[in-house]
Amino acid sequence: MCGIIGYVGRQEAAPILLEGLERMEYRGYDSAGVCVEQNGVLKVEKAKGRLQNLIAKTENGALLPGTLGIGHTRWATHGEPNDINSHPHLSQSGKFAVVHNGIIENFIALKEELLQKGYTFRSETDTEVVVHLLETCYTGDIKQALMRTAARLEGSYALGIVCRDEPGQIIAAKKDSPLIFGFGEGENFIASDVPAILKYTRQVAYLDEGDMAVFTASG
Ligand code: GLU
Repeated sequence: MCGIIGYVGRQEAAPILLEGLERMEYRGYDSAGVCVEQNGVLKVEKAKGRLQNLIAKTENGALLPGTLGIGHTRWATHGEPNDINSHPHLSQSGKFAVVHNGIIENFIALKEELLQKGYTFRSETDTEVVVHLLETCYTGDIKQALMRTAARLEGSYALGIVCRDEPGQIIAAKKDSPLIFGFGEGENFIASDVPAILKYTRQVAYLDEGDMAVFTASG
């Protein structure tokens, strides 16, 4: 269960992400984190335990300025609940940040392959293979990179992804884990469930299995 939220628009993203995560607390979680992009810089904050810890750490989002971001509440499946294992996870170069709900069943084989390519793993999560795979698959187009990455993944995922080199854009994908898209006016959302974004829009679409969403503030 647990939750994912993503926002791009004209408002400050971090308070919207934190509030959205609060509205999904009923889903259960053991830690939380957010990533906000501003001028091509990805800033990440994470905290074990109650969402309140993350809210305090970021001064209710004020320490993470920017109008695009992704947020996550984690229910640990691989790796204990701690700050490092919390999402978002960054790729080796810091180009990508990823939040993930679900389980990557073949992560051991993928991790082995990535270790041989020289990637260093910071966390104990299955999720971290996704963010490094994206980096290996990236040749300048995040959509292509996600399609190539998804083709390698076995298991379940709802993914929210931002890329430093393609600012102003969020990418999402869904397989066997819930994810909805929310259409706003000059702003757009993804979330695990409707209550997270209900304050901002009632126009939602449920992503189908294998769907991918690529969105900006305007479309
Ligand atoms: N399997 C991932 C982890 O343990 C994601 C868990 C979740 O769905 O929150 O980090």
